Amino acid sequence: QSYLDRIAAYTRLNAFREVYAAEALAQATALDARLQAGQPVGSLAGVVIGIKDVICYAGHQVGAASRILEGFVSPYSATAVERLLAADAIIIGNLNCDEFAMGSTNENSAYGPVRNALDETRVPGGSSGGSAVAVQADLCLVSLGSDTGGSVRQPADFCGIIGLKPTYGRISRYGLIAYASSFDQIGVFGKNIADVAQVLQAIAGADTYDSTASQLAVPDYQADLTHNKSWKIAYLKDAIHHDGLDPEMKAGFLHFFEEMEQAGNTVEAVDFNCLDYVVPAYYVLTTAEASSNLSRFDGVKYGHRTAHANLALSDFYKQSRSEGFGKEVKRRILLGTFVLSAGYFDAYFTKAQKVRRLVMDKINTILANYDAILLPTVPSTAFKLGEKMEDPIAMYLADIYTVLANLVGTPAISVPLTVHSNGMPYGIQIITRKFDEANLLRLAHTIN
Ligand code: GLN
Repeated sequence: QSYLDRIAAYTRLNAFREVYAAEALAQATALDARLQAGQPVGSLAGVVIGIKDVICYAGHQVGAASRILEGFVSPYSATAVERLLAADAIIIGNLNCDEFAMGSTNENSAYGPVRNALDETRVPGGSSGGSAVAVQADLCLVSLGSDTGGSVRQPADFCGIIGLKPTYGRISRYGLIAYASSFDQIGVFGKNIADVAQVLQAIAGADTYDSTASQLAVPDYQADLTHNKSWKIAYLKDAIHHDGLDPEMKAGFLHFFEEMEQAGNTVEAVDFNCLDYVVPAYYVLTTAEASSNLSRFDGVKYGHRTAHANLALSDFYKQSRSEGFGKEVKRRILLGTFVLSAGYFDAYFTKAQKVRRLVMDKINTILANYDAILLPTVPSTAFKLGEKMEDPIAMYLADIYTVLANLVGTPAISVPLTVHSNGMPYGIQIITRKFDEANLLRLAHTIN
């Protein structure tokens, strides 16, 4: 009830798409009865959680914040949702986001932007802006988002909370509306590492419904959380000396690296020399995958269908899609079909695949020699609402530090570091080897 009261008091933040008030209260009451009767309860008993509007929950609307899915009710639940419910979590509602998770500010939602609770003239980041603000403003304890190129870590950074993107394959994508399937991963927002670890514990692991979900056993993330050690850490020279990085933040990161050294860790600068290629490679590959994934929204099987009934089939598809999709989604479908088209495939798509391989090899080599890589999460603090909307390229370039982990498939987390003189928080990003969330969380725990 206290969360429902706060949600009602903060509707102007526009974090929620739908609030499951009666249902959540009924779940809480039933749980209470089980506790009173001394019955066993799950690991997330009573934990109030919100889910991004790209994660399916049986019998509930899911819309990817798009007009094209207006009114669509999911017939099944995502595996992550099934596991949350099995652990007795209480799902309190679904959360606003950029349309089809495409964006960095949550301004691409068909249902209006989400506002940053620390400064309502600023964006919360995106695409999981609603998931970040819901936790930031205590409208729920933890939340799920999705991270294809930073959509959990970047809004976590802008909102001053923790955002975890697990290894590609650590959490089943079954029931996650696809944006770019070889990049997408469900992630977790929270205010402390122990909470994030506990949610990851509940939802990670193999799933027969998703062949890309790993068969590897899920370690006990909570057990070793406070077990500290001396870390061998790398930071990427071209990341920290990048022109686009806010100078005050750069000084803050360098100071933090010194502190880490003084605390008995090894912190070394390493060459990467590929940073300028990661954003172009990311946008070629993800738009290509998106153009294919989003072809299923044709006005026949799901959601919005044009009222113009007398059209030939291909005109009917075009009309339904023209009416249903927003500007950014159209831009990406067009870009994706372009880079996949016969005359340009080798110049763009194949080239970007090669860059991805090169970047993977370089990062994996660094991680073979170091426990972790530290880098900024975002080059600046939260933008003003509207500030970047007319310049999509500038918006894409701000993803420079987050897309790396998705290109490679490693886990990554953003942890709040300090507050900028402009009053907004910023965080530091940690990357570890694939499936090494245990060390990722332990190192993050020493910072938070
Ligand atoms: N900002 C990035 C993009 O627009 C990341 C999105 C995401 O991770 N879903 O593609």
